[in-house]
Amino acid sequence: MKNTTLRLLALAVFCLVLASVQAATPKKLLVVTVTKGFRHSSIPTAEKVLADIAKTSGAFTVDYARTDQEIAEKMTPEALKQYDGAIFANTTGDLPLPDKQAFIDWVKSGKGFVGMHSASDTFHGFPAYVEMLGGEFQTHHAQVRVDCRNHDPKHPATRDLGAAFTVFDEIYLQKSFDRDQVHVLLALDAHPNEKTPGFYPIAWCKDFGNGRVFYTALGHREDMWDTDTPEKFKRENSKEIAAAYQKHILGGIQWALGLEKGDGKPQSK
Ligand SMILES: [Zn+2]
Repeated sequence: MKNTTLRLLALAVFCLVLASVQAATPKKLLVVTVTKGFRHSSIPTAEKVLADIAKTSGAFTVDYARTDQEIAEKMTPEALKQYDGAIFANTTGDLPLPDKQAFIDWVKSGKGFVGMHSASDTFHGFPAYVEMLGGEFQTHHAQVRVDCRNHDPKHPATRDLGAAFTVFDEIYLQKSFDRDQVHVLLALDAHPNEKTPGFYPIAWCKDFGNGRVFYTALGHREDMWDTDTPEKFKRENSKEIAAAYQKHILGGIQWALGLEKGDGKPQSK
């Protein structure tokens, strides 16, 4: 073989190896479950399910910040450099981040931020967080069955949910929400409890600087998260609903990590 052919061959092999190494290197996510307000009983379930979908998908690995001590160690600006994104799974209240603004800037620099349910009941007094998330928990009433209308059936977070995702959960009413600032994924066409017509956002995403934010208000109940809820929890959501919720959050996580393409621009623009 000619020298040039050999070189080209070597280059091709090198590229293949590089591509396989990149494909085999999962993203690294920090799952935060510390609470300073209400603590959901579904948190251990959420932690387990996130580990399960990380493993099954092979797309990412999870590390946890479950205590103030772990937040202090794993969420300094320096320590955050090792992660590709963070998940706030049913966090509440003012979390003791070593540097709150540095965390927001870290997401903005090109990381993924994912929030479930009471992630919007977190950092009420920190406008930069509310602005990043795109909404803020206001209140909720009794748990109820609702039809979440799918506003983007092509998005990785909602492509498996059909035209409407019917769930039984604690449904949040949000404030500090501006439809022109987010890409709506799921929303109700009526008040969850009173059923008066209106627009009630459930899940959305947004580009945030070079980063991406995905939020779903669903995830209060164990059987929302888990296909194998223990008998002691009365099952209101079928295993199929829980499986669909897992696809919803997996798609959202993959989108936030830049692993899957999807629109993050407000529909109104
Ligand atoms: Zn809740």
